[in-house]
Amino acid sequence: MTEHGSIIYVEDLTVSFDGFVALNKLNFFMDYGELRFVIGPNGAGKTTLLDVICGKVKPTKGRVIFGRDSDISTYREHEIAHLGIGRKFQTPSIYLHHTVRENIELSLKQDKSVWATLFRRLSSESEDRIEAVLDMIGLAEKPHQIAGSLSHGEKQWLEIGMVMAQEAKLLLIDEPVAGMTDHETEKTGILLQTIAKERSVLVIEHDMEFVRQISNKVSVLHEGQLLCEGSVDEVQNNEEVMEIYLGRG
Ligand code: ADP
Ligand code: MG
Repeated sequence: MTEHGSIIYVEDLTVSFDGFVALNKLNFFMDYGELRFVIGPNGAGKTTLLDVICGKVKPTKGRVIFGRDSDISTYREHEIAHLGIGRKFQTPSIYLHHTVRENIELSLKQDKSVWATLFRRLSSESEDRIEAVLDMIGLAEKPHQIAGSLSHGEKQWLEIGMVMAQEAKLLLIDEPVAGMTDHETEKTGILLQTIAKERSVLVIEHDMEFVRQISNKVSVLHEGQLLCEGSVDEVQNNEEVMEIYLGRG
């Protein structure tokens, strides 16, 4: 079944931290199957937006509608994860002392009871799933490498793979290419486009050149509100955006 309409709809969302308004009556939505970038200057509220969607931060006001679930903003983080929203943080939270393959295996959405873990034999379906994820993130040749010894870029991909193994329908990714080499950045772009063929992906990004490479719809956040949306060119030629990005030097 293909689903239509918006996968995520953030309505009239306000987040204030001790009186400081990080998100200000924000309205934002994204369709199923989209690969969307959110850009904006430091402090615009980008990370806070992801924090609210994944349940880490509770809004002061407003709703977060996920597919058919009318308001998930009151749910706990693990409940939201279970519904199908996966978050990849800026610093990877991988199991450094486990192998690449074990990291993916540990993330599979499955019965996590002690009984199941002790007596588990991976089904062939799970095996296939692990292989598919390893292949997609470009680590199929290194299943037995200890995660801690991977390059910076590879660690980021491994964590993206772990979010995929959880069968997230919506992936939230914060600044994936920060600190990556040009080659790793290019591979990450291809990876995100591949993922977006099956799922919806919301990426926070600083690097405009990277956004241009992938060239999808971009939303610009500024002072907790949406300033404009459109293609990279539309956004870069927007007067207000130019002022924010260029007008301050
Ligand atoms: P961005 O990711 O766009 O750089 P953030 O969402 O991280 O911006 O932050 C938006 C604003 O909210 C910033 O001014 C930041 O200092 C503030 N902020 C974020 N988290 C907290 C918090 N837990 N407590 C107080 N202020 C916060
Ligand atoms: Mg941020």
